[in-house]
Amino acid sequence: MDLVREDLRGFAGYRSARSSKVDGDVWLNANESPWPNPADDAGRLRRYPEPQPATLRAAMALRYGCDADQLLLGRGSDEGIDLLVRALCRPGADAVVVTPPTFGMYEVCARLHGARVLEVPLVDGDGGFECEFDAVAEAAVAGGAKLVFLCSPGNPAGNALPLERIEALAVRLQARALVVVDEAYVEFAEAGSAVALIGRQPNIAVLRTLSKAHALAAARVGCVIADAGLVAVLQRCQAPYPLPVPCSDLARRALDDAAWWVTRERIATVIGERARLASTLAKLRQVRRVYPSSANFLLVRFVDAQVALEQLLQSGIVVRDMRAHAGLADALRITVGTPSQNNRLVDLIAAMEVAA
Ligand SMILES: *Cc1c(COP(=O)(O)O)cnc(C)c1O
Repeated sequence: MDLVREDLRGFAGYRSARSSKVDGDVWLNANESPWPNPADDAGRLRRYPEPQPATLRAAMALRYGCDADQLLLGRGSDEGIDLLVRALCRPGADAVVVTPPTFGMYEVCARLHGARVLEVPLVDGDGGFECEFDAVAEAAVAGGAKLVFLCSPGNPAGNALPLERIEALAVRLQARALVVVDEAYVEFAEAGSAVALIGRQPNIAVLRTLSKAHALAAARVGCVIADAGLVAVLQRCQAPYPLPVPCSDLARRALDDAAWWVTRERIATVIGERARLASTLAKLRQVRRVYPSSANFLLVRFVDAQVALEQLLQSGIVVRDMRAHAGLADALRITVGTPSQNNRLVDLIAAMEVAA
């Protein structure tokens, strides 16, 4: 993949005891303990894990509609963001494009790595936030960007991006930049996944995670889906054993048909509650605007966001303060909760005094 940093193209990374393909029944090659720890009841944790657990990788690839070698497992999609920046951007030279208001980790990873951050803000239109695809392409070309981070559905903006625009952007940036589509919330959206575009347009990568719709944020399992050559490079840049065995076992069970069925019901409930919460909030005089959302949260502008935040906190309801983001000085981000949690939230906001 010619978008990878030139100095890393022949890079082999760390060769762990688990990277060589050998077989045996007495394993004395990795300095592991020959006896299990007494706390490890099942005795499964004595040895280092597979770097890319094959059954989990296959199960995720099946769910997401890609080949197993197009998928790199990692510690949440956050690790994927970091690996992409490190593998593609030369510190002090290359850049990434982000579209604020957006997820903060793109900028954090870029800055930690010494990559420049080019901002092309979303436009706050009548139908919600919109991505200016032409401006993104121009900024990427002019600024020498190696990565474009799109978030679809956007966090905190809530908007889903049209797949044909994503593909057209990738065509335009072919051989120049990788278009990364962060789909942390795509399960809550009507639009399909950009994974299907990768076959035609190998300069697209997709981030998926089990943290949101799959309700496994603490397990820290996510993935990068990309061209198989790029996935191989990213793996060489990754820590040797990224996935703890208890986490990968749990993740595999979470993708079984039975668990997936329950997950789909939960997603349907969230989507229903999202609509109910949005229309209820929009009628309150304390609320200025509720943005359309394809995710599991609502971005809401308040007449007095400070008072709303404080009143909710006093009653033990914690929402996300968005006021530090440019253009969101009156906004809070509210995750869709259970029906009773949502009712409690609405009642509290409805009871707030508003200055005339
Ligand atoms: C929550 C979130 C993530 C982080 O996902 P992990 O898999 O838990 O690391 C990534 N991207 C966006 C946009 C998110 O909101």
